[in-house]
Amino acid sequence: MPRNDSRPRTCRDCDGHASAKVTTGQRDRDGSRQTLTVTCPVCKGTGTSRRVTHPTHTGR
Ligand SMILES: [Zn+2]
Repeated sequence: MPRNDSRPRTCRDCDGHASAKVTTGQRDRDGSRQTLTVTCPVCKGTGTSRRVTHPTHTGR
């Protein structure tokens, strides 16, 4: 029975962590750490990678 597996795969580049918070090392005046949210450029923040459907050339 063929099953149409169209589930998105976890992005290899960020391993699903599309938006990683990076500590800048600086602190705000109130003492909280400043963080930058870096969005994965590969999956554009979705955390999943689309399965690339490319035509398979079988035979010639
Ligand atoms: Zn990603």
